[in-house]
Amino acid sequence: MPANLEGYRFFIKTFGCQMNENDSEHVAGLLIRAGAATAPSPEESDIILVNTCAVRKKSEDKIDSFLGRLSPLKKDRDRLIGVLGCVAQLRREDLFKKRPEIDFIVGPDHYHELASLLSQKREGKLLKTSWSRAWHEIGSAETLRESRISAYVPIMEGCDKFCAYCVVPFSRGREKCRPMGGILAEVLDLAKNGYKEVQLLGQNVNSYRDAKAGEDFAGLLKMISRIEGIEWIRFITSHPKDLSSEIARTMADNPNICRQLHLPLQSGSTAMLAMMNRGYTREEYLDKTTLLKGLMPDIALSTDIIVGFPGETEADFEETLDALKKVGFANIFSFRYSPRPRTAASKIRDDVPLDVKRERLIVLQELQKDIQLARNRTFIGKVLKVLCLGESKKGAGRYSGRSEGFQVVNFSSTRDVRNCFINVLITGCGPYSLHGEANL
Ligand code: SAM
Ligand code: SF4
Repeated sequence: MPANLEGYRFFIKTFGCQMNENDSEHVAGLLIRAGAATAPSPEESDIILVNTCAVRKKSEDKIDSFLGRLSPLKKDRDRLIGVLGCVAQLRREDLFKKRPEIDFIVGPDHYHELASLLSQKREGKLLKTSWSRAWHEIGSAETLRESRISAYVPIMEGCDKFCAYCVVPFSRGREKCRPMGGILAEVLDLAKNGYKEVQLLGQNVNSYRDAKAGEDFAGLLKMISRIEGIEWIRFITSHPKDLSSEIARTMADNPNICRQLHLPLQSGSTAMLAMMNRGYTREEYLDKTTLLKGLMPDIALSTDIIVGFPGETEADFEETLDALKKVGFANIFSFRYSPRPRTAASKIRDDVPLDVKRERLIVLQELQKDIQLARNRTFIGKVLKVLCLGESKKGAGRYSGRSEGFQVVNFSSTRDVRNCFINVLITGCGPYSLHGEANL
């Protein structure tokens, strides 16, 4: 029997990465196909879905407090509250015990069943959190996309790397790749519908493989770059160990693959990288960035850094600072280490004191701020191609977008340029954004 959710209004709150944002867009599309409609706020909904992230303790705490705030909404009418995503998968029954307001928990491998699970749900709590090795194709045409110009396209899910600090292999399961046919069909469909940018998603996209088609990630990139109408192709996340010279050359050979790469370093110390089970040394990482810059001198590199991993000495930390100076990243995401359940690192003592972690994070971010400011200044006086994603908060005639290097560009324009590519003359900058005027 097809799922029927007619008359229901739903609200989704999303925490975490692009993968979660994309999952929420898929789930919204599935529920709409089953007859439900979106609600503008939790108060106006019949079903509240909380799509969760478990990567850091801080993200989990935020979700707990959000769920706490939903609790009173249970009392004023018969609403269903459900938890999706990584916390759902990891905490399972334990969540029901801690948060009685929750009615159902559905892990990432069961979103395709969500509408029918909800339409059949009568009484009692519902839990669906197992893993399979199969890829569940969720109709991309039905996805309720936030943007009309830029689209996420998942190509793989899960991770086999087991970095010592990371919960993802436990929350998202082992790696599984989407068959290439489905990916290409989705991108073709997006191009036909006027999308100009695609962002390929996966925990470690570089290890993508379609055994039947005999293609790897470089092969997939080549095929996508031939699809007419898609002007910018990005992908996230890359792993330094699996980023081959073939992938780097494919980027360099195809101008519609953006000169931008997020390549998480985590630490600039080889000893720390070994403890983290990252599978590369400091030198190997730096060699890859040299190769990338040699092939694409204007490439914008970004990274993730963890400070205060167990055993990190002042000398290890200095090596991270030095790596930041050597590479000159366009942007970084930096975190204090926090132990996560089931990970290898959670079994060793979290021995870097909190105040030292805090201090290292400040020093790291201050250094990066200077690096970014110096880098951003080099764009002043230049004209950049920008994908305008919407109006800026500053009001009428002000817009916001991203450059090919994925930098935020705020600019003025006398014409409405939302959802368009536009050339922008850069007239100024701060450490975190560029600003300018549209060249109409
Ligand atoms: N697969 C991607 C990768 O390899 O970078 C993304 C992993 S995770 C969603 C994003 C970032 O969170 C990681 O790159 C890492 O810097 C950070 N992270 C993961 N676990 C962490 C932990 N236990 N403590 C602090 N930061 C963590
Ligand atoms: Fe986590 Fe490492 Fe996999 Fe990234 S590569 S998801 S950090 S285990």
